[in-house]
Amino acid sequence: MAEDPYRVLGVSPDATDAEIKRSYRKLARQHHPDRNPGDAASEGRFKEIQAAYDKIETPEKRRKFDEQKRLSSMFGSGAGGNVGDFEFNFNGGGGIEDILSSFFSGRGNNPFSGQSSGTIFDQTGRPRQNQQPKSQKGANIESPLDLTLEEALSGVKKPFTISRRKRCDSCKGRGCNKCERQGVVRKTSQITVTVPSGAEHASVMRLKGMGHESANGLAGDLLLTVRIDADEGRSWEGGRLIQQVEVSYSTMMLGGKIRIHTPAGKIVEVEVPPNSRSGDRRRLRGQGYNGGPLDVELTLSESSELTPEQEAALQALRDSGL
Ligand SMILES: [Zn+2]
Repeated sequence: MAEDPYRVLGVSPDATDAEIKRSYRKLARQHHPDRNPGDAASEGRFKEIQAAYDKIETPEKRRKFDEQKRLSSMFGSGAGGNVGDFEFNFNGGGGIEDILSSFFSGRGNNPFSGQSSGTIFDQTGRPRQNQQPKSQKGANIESPLDLTLEEALSGVKKPFTISRRKRCDSCKGRGCNKCERQGVVRKTSQITVTVPSGAEHASVMRLKGMGHESANGLAGDLLLTVRIDADEGRSWEGGRLIQQVEVSYSTMMLGGKIRIHTPAGKIVEVEVPPNSRSGDRRRLRGQGYNGGPLDVELTLSESSELTPEQEAALQALRDSGL
């Protein structure tokens, strides 16, 4: 099994697309062969970073990767050969959305704490689906749900594919050849998840009865963790929206004003106090997501090519001891 791309890129699996891109750029710059001539270790790392990013570069690729990871963790990696047995039930809407009127739990760093975890695995990585007592509900399914800032703000109907165990129709869970005596079979269905407006990053939607079914027909829940993909330069931190803004060295040192685009599309002027440092933050009330605060984080802009005048000025600075 190849390295986990999230781990290679130093981001958590629930990182936003923008965070992934930012981390990739930073690492790629750091380990770029041009910067590390003749350094074989750096070159290997650079290739690893490229390969990892290639897997989760676009939302589409990332969805596929996450889905594959989810499937292999659900059924054990050896079960891939049965993919053709999936049944596709298309439930474009109708009654299912009533079930899906969402239940948001509070947000937090670990939205799943206190909830029964999903599938139980044995030592070979296969789910222990047959060792559950007969009266037990099926396992929960946990998955991220990716939204753009706009989708989260206005609310959205999201198509979502789940692959889950359902009670076998042929034997009503008693076990037959069709279900290989499991009493349950795998089915993939497409559902539509109705996300109400104002969904918060890292909040959890619990869709009752949309998890795995056990052989007795009792289903667990589907737990969807909302990931709101902040745009380039923005990220989430414990429910707060952070926006990184590049500031020139002279503005950092001398202070000044910078202009930023807020998530709502407004242009806002931010005061940079003298002697600021990269990483300093200023909180703007009401300018964040859905009227919440926006934390502006100053980062030192990387100087591009210096003009002769700038070079002369820097030289004079160095002569002065700075
Ligand atoms: Zn059966």
